Amino acid sequence: MGLRWINEQDLKAIRAQADIVDIMSRYLSLSKKGKNYEALCPFHDDHDPSLSISTDKQIFKCFVCGAGGDVFGFVQKIENISFPEAVAKVAEMIGYPLAMPTSAYKPKADPNQSYYDILQAYISYMQYELKSEAGTLALDYLHRRKLNEDVLYRFEIGYAPDIQASQKYFDAKQYDAKTLKELGLIQNGHALFHDRFVIPIHDANGHPIGFTARKLTNTGDEPKYINSPQTKLYEKGHVIFNYHRAKTFAHKAHRVILVEGAMD
Ligand SMILES: [Zn+2]
Repeated sequence: MGLRWINEQDLKAIRAQADIVDIMSRYLSLSKKGKNYEALCPFHDDHDPSLSISTDKQIFKCFVCGAGGDVFGFVQKIENISFPEAVAKVAEMIGYPLAMPTSAYKPKADPNQSYYDILQAYISYMQYELKSEAGTLALDYLHRRKLNEDVLYRFEIGYAPDIQASQKYFDAKQYDAKTLKELGLIQNGHALFHDRFVIPIHDANGHPIGFTARKLTNTGDEPKYINSPQTKLYEKGHVIFNYHRAKTFAHKAHRVILVEGAMD
């Protein structure tokens, strides 16, 4: 990374606005000595304060190990980052709005993003199926349970069609079976959720991680409700359904109502 993406004007402004004493005091305990400050040097094994900071010159210098420089040099050295990164860091600390090309400062990609994408696509597919002919029974059932369109939309409730239809969907998406198994969408060689209405379960940050699904008729020996199995995303016992939506409201209202099932 070069300096090219921090322009000279910004650099000058940040240098003028950032006080080296203020910035260094976020990392070290400084003591005032006359006009200047001193501290234990973090760059060598220091027992007497060997590092001094000149407030006039806005630089620091260690008289034992020789470390020294300006405010950017200090941040660069103590954070072990590049010069442009140090400038960006100082800008952030003093609240200086630094316009940067988005590519230069991208947050780290979430390693699970491809899993969330698969689950989110599956949610959309099931929402579509709920409104299709195959989903008619499920939709009728949900309406009878007084779930209106707004609730269905907000909770992304969908319908998982029969095994063949789901398999056709997975094939069309070219997902590999191993990934689908890891996500709990396939079990015993076929789609876990079939002919059930399905409610997505999210983590605290709103990422889809699993599902709870109810069958529509009470016949047969399959359980009424089934949930996603434990997966690397869905850690049972660590997830509260709807928490990511409720947390802001709960914070404002200073209270939380916990119920047993997703439908409650
Ligand atoms: Zn030193």
